[in-house]
Amino acid sequence: MSEDTKIDEAQCCCGQVSLKFTGGPKKVLACSCDYCQRRTGSIIQFSAWYTADQIVSQTGEVKHYQGPNNPGVDYMFCPECGSTVYWEIPGLTALYGSRLYGVAVGNFADRDYPQPTMENFVSNRHHWLGDVGTEETNAEVSPFIVEALQAGMSD
Ligand SMILES: [Zn+2]
Ligand SMILES: [Zn+2]
Repeated sequence: MSEDTKIDEAQCCCGQVSLKFTGGPKKVLACSCDYCQRRTGSIIQFSAWYTADQIVSQTGEVKHYQGPNNPGVDYMFCPECGSTVYWEIPGLTALYGSRLYGVAVGNFADRDYPQPTMENFVSNRHHWLGDVGTEETNAEVSPFIVEALQAGMSD
């Protein structure tokens, strides 16, 4: 199956929420900021970004919350099992020109999933953690995300 026709399916732990995308992720990011660590319970967070027109199907009920330390981000989670499956940064929609969905890479449970190309908050990485191998690293948040968060808050 080619990358164009491959379906990437993200599911919560219990399977109640499912999202299927086609065309592969636009970007895959890694982040080690304190907020991402607490939100995921993992020492590094991996997110994949898709545009709304890549959604093939979406099932299940989600609840959402605005990140208190990330006011420009709206997180969607399964009310049954608590998995955060995807999120939106409204400001990114304005900058990117299309509605974007961030999806937790772990929810694909696909060991052949593309590796991240950008890592943020490298300065906050656990001391023993090796290089993730991204093309771009930022000591803290990438300027693009800062711009998107500010754009979302000024709406
Ligand atoms: Zn669930
Ligand atoms: Zn983060």
